[in-house]
Amino acid sequence: MKLKNKKLYLIILTFIFVVIVTYAFLVTKIEAPNVPPEILAQQKIEEQNKVANEETYTIINRSTIAPTNILNKNKIVLLTIDDGPSSRTIQIIDILKKHNAKAIFFINGMHDSANIGVIEQTAKEGFAVGNHTWDHLNLKKEKDVTIIEKEINKNGELINKLTGAFPRFFRAPYGESNTYIRKLVKDSGMIFMDWSGAAKDWEKSTVEKDIFISNVTSNLHSGSIILIHEHPWSVANLDALLTTLESDGYTYVDPKNIIE
Ligand SMILES: [Zn+2]
Repeated sequence: MKLKNKKLYLIILTFIFVVIVTYAFLVTKIEAPNVPPEILAQQKIEEQNKVANEETYTIINRSTIAPTNILNKNKIVLLTIDDGPSSRTIQIIDILKKHNAKAIFFINGMHDSANIGVIEQTAKEGFAVGNHTWDHLNLKKEKDVTIIEKEINKNGELINKLTGAFPRFFRAPYGESNTYIRKLVKDSGMIFMDWSGAAKDWEKSTVEKDIFISNVTSNLHSGSIILIHEHPWSVANLDALLTTLESDGYTYVDPKNIIE
């Protein structure tokens, strides 16, 4: 190539480069202010959710959750809803869906007959149905091993019958367990799960939205497993709690991505 041609070639290349950079700059300048901050925030949450949903997670010390990929520094929580099904379960599902949030519903078989169809729908909507014993017994106080086994197995069989799969997760009522119970659960192929943060919605003071939320946020960190019940006041305050979690940068782990 002649020197003159080379120069011309360089000038053309530089010109094209400048045009592209200017165009890109103008496009960002023009378009950026048109996107409202709340949309940008929503896009960020969706992007984080996407990342969170592609990762796998493990349960640590039965009570917190961690990504298997240590490079994943996303702020995450796992939501768990206990003691259903109830007449409010579907309402909870709607609130969770609005927030693009997944959760485990730890159910008691004894509530099924009064809430026909709710357990099936919970699973159909993409939520995990966990085993919380049939009668919500304090298993640790129960001396008869056959009763303990029945409490766990009968509930697991109901979940299998209604959802087409045995539960992957187990939570002991009142958080009361011992090594025997935990081994039994593990040998039954389930992941034993306590919690690390609770709305403490068994206390009537949590009718107050601010108390309900601060019970969760005061003890919150990435990896928290949050316990909420299906009380009317819990349902009433759930939307606000999730909005608070999201504004703090938290995203929700999908239980299907928990591997052990
Ligand atoms: Zn319970």
